[in-house]
Amino acid sequence: MNLVLLGPPGAGKGTQATKIAEKYNIPHISTGDIFRKNVKEGTPLGKKAQEYMSKGELVPDDLVIELVEDRLTEDDCKGGFLLDGFPRTVYQAEKFDVYLKEKNSAIDKVLDIDVEKDILIDRMIGRRVCKNCGATYHVKNMPPKKEGICDVCGGEIYQRADDTLETVSNRLQVYLEQTSPLIDYYEKAGNIAHINGAGALDKVFSEIVEVLGA
Ligand code: AMP
Repeated sequence: MNLVLLGPPGAGKGTQATKIAEKYNIPHISTGDIFRKNVKEGTPLGKKAQEYMSKGELVPDDLVIELVEDRLTEDDCKGGFLLDGFPRTVYQAEKFDVYLKEKNSAIDKVLDIDVEKDILIDRMIGRRVCKNCGATYHVKNMPPKKEGICDVCGGEIYQRADDTLETVSNRLQVYLEQTSPLIDYYEKAGNIAHINGAGALDKVFSEIVEVLGA
């Protein structure tokens, strides 16, 4: 199963992706996570990406496309993949379609998770992430059992540098201008399903399972 998760930042893509990957046994590939890992390790890619990420802007298309195409050649992608945060521009989507076609493959389903703006801002500003395993929490809605410590692995929990009010507003604007046109793009392709992401985590997941099949 080849899946793409679409939706504004803060819609809960990462949280749902973890559950989808587990249920359907496909790797969760988050371009944001890959960039953050590279930033943390100080690689040349990380240094380049950080310039854009810190401002809430998109990393240049060709850099991202190469990264994803490389990742998809790994063995764990043989039975499919779940992309979270890619594609993010129409250009990326077009290039990716060409790549898949060359491989006699295609996207089976694009899941568009939508949430209204006020909720998104609250979710992003309150979001906390485990430095070690990437598990996500929310200061009010989903705090860890022990403050600052990840329930899953005991790692340290931190706030992403781009989850501040100033950067969040820019990221939403970037989403509206550059990523939301993808809804139309995949609408035309006929492989998109719309999911209401405003509800509780399990309710949103049930809606996704209904679309994908149990
Ligand atoms: P995310 O964790 O998906 O919110 O991504 C964090 C940041 O990584 C974004 O704000 C962008 O700067 C960068 N990024 C992640 N995925 C992409 C992509 N497909 N295209 C361009 N930039 C990306």
